[in-house]
Amino acid sequence: MSDIVRRKFLGKRSTKGCRTCRARHVKCDEAPGACRNCPATGRTCDGYDEHRLPVRKGWSARGTMVGYGGQMTPDERRGLSYFQNSVIPSLFGFFDCPMWRRFLLQISQTEPAVWHSINMLSAIYYDAKENGMRVSGDDLSNAQHTYALEQATRAFSLLTRRSASSDPELRQVVLLCCFLFVLSELLLGRYDNAFVHLRSGTQLAREFMRQKGLQSPVVRSLLDWFIFLNVQSSHLVGIGRDDEPEVAPGIPTFPATFRNVQETRYTARHIINSTCMFLARCWRLSDSEKMTEYEELWAKRQSFLATFDRFERQFESLSQASYHGMSRQDQRSMEIVRLQYQSQYLALEGCLCAPQDLAALTPKHAAFVSTCERLMGLFPDRPAVTLDIGFIPGLHMVATQCVDFSVRVRAIEALCAWPHCEGILKSNLAVELAVQALEADMQRQGEACFPEPLKDRFQAIVMPW
Ligand SMILES: [Zn+2]
Ligand SMILES: [Zn+2]
Repeated sequence: MSDIVRRKFLGKRSTKGCRTCRARHVKCDEAPGACRNCPATGRTCDGYDEHRLPVRKGWSARGTMVGYGGQMTPDERRGLSYFQNSVIPSLFGFFDCPMWRRFLLQISQTEPAVWHSINMLSAIYYDAKENGMRVSGDDLSNAQHTYALEQATRAFSLLTRRSASSDPELRQVVLLCCFLFVLSELLLGRYDNAFVHLRSGTQLAREFMRQKGLQSPVVRSLLDWFIFLNVQSSHLVGIGRDDEPEVAPGIPTFPATFRNVQETRYTARHIINSTCMFLARCWRLSDSEKMTEYEELWAKRQSFLATFDRFERQFESLSQASYHGMSRQDQRSMEIVRLQYQSQYLALEGCLCAPQDLAALTPKHAAFVSTCERLMGLFPDRPAVTLDIGFIPGLHMVATQCVDFSVRVRAIEALCAWPHCEGILKSNLAVELAVQALEADMQRQGEACFPEPLKDRFQAIVMPW
């Protein structure tokens, strides 16, 4: 659309017109309650939106693959387009998932509850990218947030209205909306709400998987994501979550050899589901509690390390055979899988160490930070919010546990260099916790004080979030 046509078009648009008239691009009479245009042409009026979005850079409907625009307002078309062009590539930035792309594209155009939920997430994501990720809830003076809230309300009432239906498609819609709600709440920093949705999503998905006719690859995949996010949240006990997630997954059976990066990723994720829960438990135990349970903990740790050793052998043999022939996206995914298991391995090695023995791990900690720095240089187009874990857990562990403070500072700087969100983990929160821990440890060891220039630098990055 040329600028002149667009201005003309925007000029004609009534800002308060009803949703139906706006979707139809016709002038609305804006009668209170419901307009008279709609019934006059035999339509049901969809009512008025209280909150509209200012048109912003990057927030446009250009290039949208919207086939179903009948009830979608121009704002919503832009939100959907932003989702397709910016949010999806970011969410699947570490690992592409064609099934998800296809499914999301198709369902977002036919299911109003989904496109409202998508608009909610798009607006919150857009705001997070422009103004930094929040750690303290929404802000009702913010246009994106009020818009998101209204979209959420619409999605919710649509779902409630259909809750009695037995349509199997609806199960996927409910689960997907629940998933989009989890992501939105996480981005807003409202962990309590996120966990409520996470719990009900997990329960529902489990129920559907048990019932014949309700299982589908999408439900399976959503259940996997719910479990994964649940497990990750075990590290947030005391921050956002006060109970332990009830997920205790076992170690998966390995394929004899890995044929592609998807297989390595799938297997790594299942091992990590188990090790994460174990690590969260170890990190919460006091030294004396650890001593009481030492034998059991040690045996578990050894068996996890052995599993990772085996995983590494198979992973590296795939890497040697095929890395150079892989697409850039797959190469990046390989690097992320390696980062995932290396950080878990390092965490396992340190989790039962006495403080004086932790020093032996310093070279490995330093090497891990170097790997992260190198990969960040190698992949400049980095996602802002991604579903999988990659850099944050390992860097955060080094930044809080390494006995060499200079390595910790490097890890904190690496976290600061790329403000982003991996699943449930936010780099800004990781930095905040790591800076606090570093300050406390320095004071304990009688180091003069936290070096001022460093503190200023970290504060400048942490504060606006
Ligand atoms: Zn109207
Ligand atoms: Zn109307």
